[in-house]
Amino acid sequence: MAKLTVRDLDVRGKRVFMRVDYNVPLEEKDGQMVITDATRIVETLPTLKLLIEKGAKLILAAHLGRPKGKRESSMSLRPVAAKLQELVGVPVQFVDDCIGEKVEKAASALKEGQILLLENVRYYNEEEANDPAFAEKLAKVADVYVNDAFGAAHRAHASTEGVARVVAKRGGKCAAGLLMERELKFLGDELENPARPFVVILGGAKVSDKIKVIDRLLEKANTILIGGAMAYTFKLAHGDKVGKSLVEPEHKQTALDAEAKAKKLGVNFQLPTDFVVATPVDTGKLNKKGKPVMDFTNIQTVKGNIPDDAEGFGAGEETAKHYAQIISEAKTILWNGPMGMFEDPRFAASTNIVARAVADATQKGAKSIIGGGDSVKALNKAKLGDKVTFMSTGGGASLEFLEGAVLPGVAALSDK
Ligand code: ADP
Ligand code: MG
Repeated sequence: MAKLTVRDLDVRGKRVFMRVDYNVPLEEKDGQMVITDATRIVETLPTLKLLIEKGAKLILAAHLGRPKGKRESSMSLRPVAAKLQELVGVPVQFVDDCIGEKVEKAASALKEGQILLLENVRYYNEEEANDPAFAEKLAKVADVYVNDAFGAAHRAHASTEGVARVVAKRGGKCAAGLLMERELKFLGDELENPARPFVVILGGAKVSDKIKVIDRLLEKANTILIGGAMAYTFKLAHGDKVGKSLVEPEHKQTALDAEAKAKKLGVNFQLPTDFVVATPVDTGKLNKKGKPVMDFTNIQTVKGNIPDDAEGFGAGEETAKHYAQIISEAKTILWNGPMGMFEDPRFAASTNIVARAVADATQKGAKSIIGGGDSVKALNKAKLGDKVTFMSTGGGASLEFLEGAVLPGVAALSDK
């Protein structure tokens, strides 16, 4: 059922409690915490501007990092308030708590079109526990609830779910922000009745991470293109050797079942036919996290068996070009998971070829939807992020949503 959005709301003079995703990367510089990437703040501006225009009194709640119930000063949202004020162009007040008298006072002093940012909700353990009493306390300043934090919607926390329930119980409205609305539209509605051919590209590390998505999309897609380390489990299931590649032998049957289902449903299910492999060698050095730094020698493309001392790091060019051909004929494209270890340029070719094909198909009129944190990174790295129809901001939430799960933060919003 369609959810109420901020467009549908009459909020003049009302206190709008809005959950945002301001979990931005911070770095310490000269004793100060500095925001190194403000994308998440910028992304909320359309919703904020609309609500300001509509005369709302805005109270923003967010989490930052994992303070685990403690007041961790390095995870304060104070620097975000300053940045937001600079970006949104209206005064943004900050209060160093998210519940209590201070918050209530600051909220009641708000005028129409003004913004108050609350301190990190995860300074309280009750947030992640979705404690009902804590949700009541948060809801004290909420006439209306808005959720624009899709990336946190798969968690039933007090600020993503509990407050909405309290507001709804009082007869208040709970609506999606514009960012959330776009996520629901592209990852949800657009994939319900996709223009065909509908081509799904699935890669990433593990079959076990993606099997629910594979299973659900087998019922909708015309073609599924498999890439990434996930392919090695399929390969192993077919009796091929995979050398030192990342595999899940316990999921061989899962892989075979997926192929059988594809056959039954008439889905064109493609696996890579060539692989870029390399021999890993320990450099003897440790990285910042204390893990051994590996180097790779003897990088080569192989078909069939992967040599015993080699590890696969992605699909080969033959595969990528074949996939690109199929993608060029698609009308709807969903991509989740890179084709290989794209972070290393030596193994990024197949991911980049596929990214280019998706961008070109979009140019020709296909709708392209990208879900998954690393897939978005790969596309941005290839400088093609603005050449696709939609890139999810959701990471883990987008994967769960694509699996067909009901996200608690979405379920809590009012129906239209
Ligand atoms: P997403 O975040 O888009 O859902 P995943 O998290 O499932 O994607 O997978 C991304 C990760 O999988 C990347 O960091 C990439 O390096 C890794 N990966 C993909 N293919 C391989 C491979 N062949 N070997 C090792 N790692 C791989
Ligand atoms: Mg990932």
